[in-house]
Amino acid sequence: MDGSMKITKRVIQILPFGSVPGHDVDELKKILTEIADVSVLYTTGLPRGSLNESRGQYDAEVLLKEAKRMRGRKDVILGVTEVDLFTPKRNFVFGASDPDSATAVMSLHRLKWNVDRQQFLSRMRKVALYEIGRVFGLEKCLGSKCVMQYADSIIDLDFNGDRYCRRCDNILRDKGVLPNIMSGRSSVFDLDL
Ligand SMILES: [Zn+2]
Repeated sequence: MDGSMKITKRVIQILPFGSVPGHDVDELKKILTEIADVSVLYTTGLPRGSLNESRGQYDAEVLLKEAKRMRGRKDVILGVTEVDLFTPKRNFVFGASDPDSATAVMSLHRLKWNVDRQQFLSRMRKVALYEIGRVFGLEKCLGSKCVMQYADSIIDLDFNGDRYCRRCDNILRDKGVLPNIMSGRSSVFDLDL
């Protein structure tokens, strides 16, 4: 069963893992408010067992499990952290999600490399909308410039668009997501294939 279908009331809860600058959390909240109601949970520590000392990175799947443990029944949790994340399959990840438990996590670590604040915020927006899109049941999209295009490098990420294409947007609407942008539709654009 598609886990995302179990979500009935869409409140995204931002869960800071470890120290995350308050102004970054505020910006993330502003971005996510375009697609859902958003609240911010108290910062929690990085979970025990998440640090891989030899890599100097944290296991995204351990953070996802912790987010799942803290999730209210109807909520979506997006964990955010400044530490670098990896998964058993990838050297690093910008984020990870588990649609079945309506949880996702994202790292700001690599998004801040060598860019000014505006570019950093653009990257943060792309990663956040991608991971939340996955939670809401979207697959990777081949649409040019769609935010659901998968990025496994910062170059790919910078190339990708920062909005859902019409096709992905329609899927979200069919699932009853995206009530907050019905009027503005600022997260959506028409797809040219
Ligand atoms: Zn798309």
